[in-house]
Amino acid sequence: MLDVNIDGVEQAVSTGSLPEWGRVDDLVVAAHERNSTCQDGSVADYIPELAQADPELFGVCVVDVDGGEHAAGDAAAEFSIQSISKAFVYALVCEEFGHQAIADLVGVNNTGLAFNSVIAIELNDGHPMNPMVNAGALATTALMRGLTAADQWEAIKSGLSSFAGRELELDQVVYRSEAATNTRNRAIAGLLESYGRIKRPPLEVVDVYTKQCSLRVSARDLAVMAATLADGGVNPVTGVRVVSAQVCRDTLAVLAANGLYERSGEWLFEIGLPGKSGVAGGLITIAPGKAGIGTFSPRLDQAGNSVRGQQATAYLSRVLGLNIFASAAKQPKDNTLNVD
Ligand code: GLN
Repeated sequence: MLDVNIDGVEQAVSTGSLPEWGRVDDLVVAAHERNSTCQDGSVADYIPELAQADPELFGVCVVDVDGGEHAAGDAAAEFSIQSISKAFVYALVCEEFGHQAIADLVGVNNTGLAFNSVIAIELNDGHPMNPMVNAGALATTALMRGLTAADQWEAIKSGLSSFAGRELELDQVVYRSEAATNTRNRAIAGLLESYGRIKRPPLEVVDVYTKQCSLRVSARDLAVMAATLADGGVNPVTGVRVVSAQVCRDTLAVLAANGLYERSGEWLFEIGLPGKSGVAGGLITIAPGKAGIGTFSPRLDQAGNSVRGQQATAYLSRVLGLNIFASAAKQPKDNTLNVD
């Protein structure tokens, strides 16, 4: 890993604020309305139960770091969290093991390949590369606190519930459907074991991972979870600290690089914020120090990212002034370029 030589350096944060309340409300409604007729993409069907989703459902929710909520459409409809769980399990494991250990063990670099790629593991000598693709997520879940797989599952369920500020439940139907068909994830876990990257029984690790992916959430839950990452690790609705501010910073960096799989570069270019998608159609986006955004719409692009979720978020990022790369000149200057 890079030696950044910052021992003893005090950390300051860069924040800002959202526009006034009524305007955020209007813009969330507009984000929903202007994208509601889009039919692009298709519902995931490689997990049989996900193919049953109603493709018309569409919810948008913004929760600010004061706990205020702005919602439009089907923001209360529930669905399985899927890969978005990876972000929060990573944060919980990072809280336990710290910045460096997880960076060394699991990695933080983009694979440039699909979320369930086996080639990515082989190309990198068995290294899982990052916790947001299946290989790295399985390696991360394997590190979760707990003596048995059942203990690990309980710790994950209760940790993700703290992020959401309510008790999340397992979707038994989705869990059974994925457990019966997840041969590829079993192969990935076996491969990781062969490279010494997971120390627990691989099938148990896959089972805990499948359960974490099957937790039921709504777009509103996702917005609260995202807002907790935007608020230095404190859930702004319950006031409970879930993880440290350092863990949030690390998690957001990993999401910025990897949250939308092989489309992460395009996402950052258009939206300019860390985000994470899941194949059931959920999407979280984090505006550090300002707010969390949760969207739900089941039709996905080729990489497995919700189409309308990305469109609604792109709109909100622009109109709410959230893109972390956007700046304006502090002093008005004349428009001629000075090339001296
Ligand atoms: N449970 C799913 C899987 O492992 C999650 C994938 C996703 O949301 N991209 O295939």
